[in-house]
This record gives sequence, C-alpha cells and structure tokens, in this order.
Amino acid sequence: MDEKTRKELTAWLEFYRELGIEDFYRRARGSVELPASVNVAPAEPPVAAPLPTHSHSIAPPPRTTAPAELSKPLSAARVAPVIQPPTTSFNLFEAAPAPRGPETLAQIRTDLGDCHRCKLAGTRKTIVFGDGNPHAELVFVGEGPGADEDEQGLPFVGRAGKLLNRMIQSIGMKREEVYICNIVKCRPPGNRTPEKDEVDACSPFLYRQIEAIKPRLVCCLGAPAVRTVLGIKEGITKIRGQFYAFGSTQAIATVHPAYVLRNPREEKILREDFEKIREFLKGG
Ligand code: SF4
Repeated sequence: MDEKTRKELTAWLEFYRELGIEDFYRRARGSVELPASVNVAPAEPPVAAPLPTHSHSIAPPPRTTAPAELSKPLSAARVAPVIQPPTTSFNLFEAAPAPRGPETLAQIRTDLGDCHRCKLAGTRKTIVFGDGNPHAELVFVGEGPGADEDEQGLPFVGRAGKLLNRMIQSIGMKREEVYICNIVKCRPPGNRTPEKDEVDACSPFLYRQIEAIKPRLVCCLGAPAVRTVLGIKEGITKIRGQFYAFGSTQAIATVHPAYVLRNPREEKILREDFEKIREFLKGG
C-alpha cells in the first residue's frame, strides 16, 4: 500500500473510530462486477460493518487524542468532519436526539411557517400568531382574527381589542405584560366562527404557545375559546367567571369583548371576571 493510500485509510479509520465503530470488513476484490469503463481507485475506503438490528452498546474507543487535536483535518487529502468528544460513555444506538426541551415562541412560529394546514389559508392576508410577553403570567385566548387583525398581523387591535386593553388596564396591568392569541391564526371569512377542521388544524399551535409561555392563568374569551381550551360546551353565560384546572396551570372563562360591544350593558360581566383575574394573580 502506498503512503498516500495508507494516510487516506488511516483518516477513514479515525473517522469511524470517533463514531464508535471499530469492526470493518474489506470487500474481496472481484466480488463486484464493474463495467470496464469504471476506474477503480487504488484502495477503497473501509466499509463500516452493518449495524446490528438489536440495541447494542458500543463503548467509544479509548480516548487518546486531545480534544483540540480532533478539530484538525486528519489528512490533507480527506478532511473528516469534526466530532465533539462525548463527555461520558455513550451508546450509539441510544444516541437519538434528546427529548425536545421547552420550545420558544419563535421556534413555534418558525414551525408554523407560511401555514396552509387548513382552508383559512386561502382567504387570509396575514397569519396572526400572537402578541405580547413571552413570559406572561396571563394569556388571553380569543376566537380568531377579524379584519383589522388580518390587516395588521396582530391580535385584538380593532374595537374589541381596545375594550380588552381597557379591561387589562382596569386590573392594573399593561397590554405588553400579557400575551394575546386566538384559537385560529387566520381570519375566517366574514368573521364566522372557526369550523371544527380549522380548529383541529390550528389549535395544536395554541397549546404549544401556552406550554412555551407557562402562564399562571389562561383567560378564554368567548364560547369557542372555552370549547377549544377546556372542552366545555355549555353556554358561556353559565360557566363564565369560574376557574378550571388546565394542565399545570388554571383557566378562567369570560365573555368575548365583541359580545360586550354588541351588548354594552354586559360590560359589568367582563369587569366582574377581570376582578377575579386580578384577585387570582394577586394571590400568587
Ligand atoms: S388557521 Fe391555523 S392551521 Fe389554518 S392556515 Fe391559518 S395558521 Fe394554518
């Protein structure tokens, strides 16, 4: 074996050893029929032995190389990928990605992308993901974006949003302190109630947002939000103002601000429920 081939082979062996693979076989010459036009390299890189199908622990080779040296190219001819040394003995077959840690809102937004998971994608202008403090103690969940929200890409920016802002201020908070989102992120045509298939497609992202924020309280605004978040089908006027367990956090149901705009005398209901929210948050 000439010097160049020997160095190249050494580089490949080092590379596989860093992966914890030590058993190799060499295909016998002549075992594969190659067309005459194919140029056979003077020496093939070694082929890693087939991986066993059952779980099997492979101890990493004894480390003799200083970590800093691992980042050096192993040969001028073939630069092997840099492999960070494991800090502990590991099992190659258990080296699957670790369970996903807590997601950030940015990661969830990236995953949502230019979403076309339901038919609302066909009529929206903008995806209204959510807005506010990513570490909020209080999350509001509404029904879906309206015309103003669709234009601006932000939730609750129309008349109902202004009323919500006033309610938030009435309990001594600012809008920037809370997080606001909806059960669907695209405007249903004509502001109709989101349909089941749309809610089914979109609500997993809502749950992930709540999981990422980990608020102390989720406030469901209106019946569709209550149905989606809490699975309660009773009328909103019956169940409003009550607290419910919701995973590791709690939720409260109240009427949607748009309902109060249509029924101004009902603003007292909203005020009562917001007082309960204030009391709850004070109690922490
Ligand atoms: S409503 Fe949700 S699931 Fe449907 S297209 Fe918009 S972002 Fe995607």
